[in-house]
Amino acid sequence: MASEFERKRKKTCRFCESKIDVIDYKDERLLRRFITDRGKIVPRRISGNCAWHQRRLTLAIKRARHLALLPFTGEIYR
Ligand SMILES: [Zn+2]
Repeated sequence: MASEFERKRKKTCRFCESKIDVIDYKDERLLRRFITDRGKIVPRRISGNCAWHQRRLTLAIKRARHLALLPFTGEIYR
C-alpha cells in the first residue's frame, strides 16, 4: 500500500497511517471527523485520505446514515 508516490506526499491518509483496512461504519465518532457540520462528507483534498480509503469511508458514512448514526444534513442549519 505504501508506494513511492505516497511516501513523498506530506499529507498522508489517516487510515493508511494507522493501518486500518476496514472502516467500521458503527464507529460514529471516527466517521464524524470526516463530515462537516452540515453533514457533508469532507472532500479528499481536505481530509488527505487516499482514494482507496476515501471510497471505503464514503461507503461507511452512507451505511451509518442509513442506520441513523449520522445525519444526512445538519439539523441546525435549516
Ligand atoms: Zn489510505
